[in-house]
Amino acid sequence: MKILVLGAGVAGLASAWYLARDGHDVTVVERHSGVALETSYANGGQLSYSYVAPLAGPGVLPKLPPWLLRRDSPLRFEPKLDWRQWRWCLEFVAACTQAQSDLTTRRMLALSFYSRGLMRETVDAERIDFRYARNGKLIIHAEQSSFDAARRLLDYQRSLGCEQEALDADQCVALEPALAQMRSRIVGGIHTPGEDAGDCYRFCTALEGRLRDEGRPVSFLLGTEITRLLHWRGRIIGIETSAGVLEADRYILALGTQSPALARPLGLELPVYPLKGYSLSLPVADDAAAPRISITDFKRKVVYARLGEELRVAGMADLAGFDTRIDPGRIATLLDQVRDSFPKASDFSRIKPWCGLRPATPWSTPLLGATPYRELLLNTGHGALGFTLAMGCGRIIADLVAGREPAVPLEGFMLRR
Ligand SMILES: Cc1cc2nc3c(=O)[nH]c(=O)nc-3n(C[C@H](O)[C@H](O)[C@H](O)COP(=O)(O)OP(=O)(O)OC[C@H]3O[C@@H](n4cnc5c(N)ncnc54)[C@H](O)[C@@H]3O)c2cc1C
Repeated sequence: MKILVLGAGVAGLASAWYLARDGHDVTVVERHSGVALETSYANGGQLSYSYVAPLAGPGVLPKLPPWLLRRDSPLRFEPKLDWRQWRWCLEFVAACTQAQSDLTTRRMLALSFYSRGLMRETVDAERIDFRYARNGKLIIHAEQSSFDAARRLLDYQRSLGCEQEALDADQCVALEPALAQMRSRIVGGIHTPGEDAGDCYRFCTALEGRLRDEGRPVSFLLGTEITRLLHWRGRIIGIETSAGVLEADRYILALGTQSPALARPLGLELPVYPLKGYSLSLPVADDAAAPRISITDFKRKVVYARLGEELRVAGMADLAGFDTRIDPGRIATLLDQVRDSFPKASDFSRIKPWCGLRPATPWSTPLLGATPYRELLLNTGHGALGFTLAMGCGRIIADLVAGREPAVPLEGFMLRR
């Protein structure tokens, strides 16, 4: 089959990867001159297979008012004259129930464990270099109440297949000696050995390289803006681009936060809205002072991943429209937090700041698969977990195109309206 993959972020590339393995004639269309130059560029680098609980949960609502009022809060809301932003918020609030959160977590774990298997299989078979490490993750808690709540969840998480253990502060430092510098802030931690980390941009360029070089029939149309999806009598008949009209048998919509804008003229309202986040990449100055294991600072909602000689720090979630400018205040907050937690990890003179828009649904679940148009499939809306879920979602797309039953049930991941 002739297939156009729309968007060369990690979602589009993983789709192209599995579609090419099925022998299809695949072309990836991307507006930038290279792959993964938007949200897949400098994300947190965590392959967070066991931490997939949705952002919308029963514990979030009481925290919202103080978060929204504080300048250095991990979550920020800038109201816009955009009813889609407000509808997203209402759906988010409606999803903040225990029942919905548990259901979503169970569904997401099935998808993330499937993705872990495929990612590890690919890493082992292809030997691609993207600063990948199977180093596990430690969530550190600075408050007794949050640590107690996390410990209470351990049995439930175990029943869902997550291997985790609770550690006291000294055990946390023994596991990750770089934490010694912030020992006084730690009450305890939850260790998950089965988590990985890697550089998403390098992963994407490595996939692109393999897809181009190994004789698999994948072409890349870079620097090509998609302006419209063309439809006629309930069918997608092509896409209008800056390089002319392109036609195919199937179209995979993987345009990240731009997916809704391109789907809207087809009568499809995708519940995806940007959640802006920030990252810093810092060259490691003192190897022993920078964590090797991935760390999440639960209170500050900041994640740390060691990517070779670099420390990647990421956090913040700003519901503030499509603005992609870097807010220096947000970077300063993040930098203060790194200096406070790992003061000797870097000399802080060569930081690379970045921001990106997470394509988020109110439920934190991606949108996968069928649309009312037989030719159009969705692979978008992965929110904070696009790198983690990429391989599973890519494989599911290939299964659907081939008419195979996906290994993970799609209930909860399909377009609801
Ligand atoms: C601060 C931050 C930290 C994060 N940390 C993690 C993490 O630790 N682990 C994790 O799993 N995930 C993380 N994420 C989430 C992850 O980065 C995203 O879910 C993922 O990158 C989304 O991939 P995508 O391919 O859907 O979107 P994108 O990477 O944005 O790709 C979409 C592509 O479509 C192209 N495009 C859009 N419109 C058009 C058009 N009209 N014509 C042509 N091309 C177009 C864009 O140029 C882009 O290349 C983080 C995100 C942020 C912002």
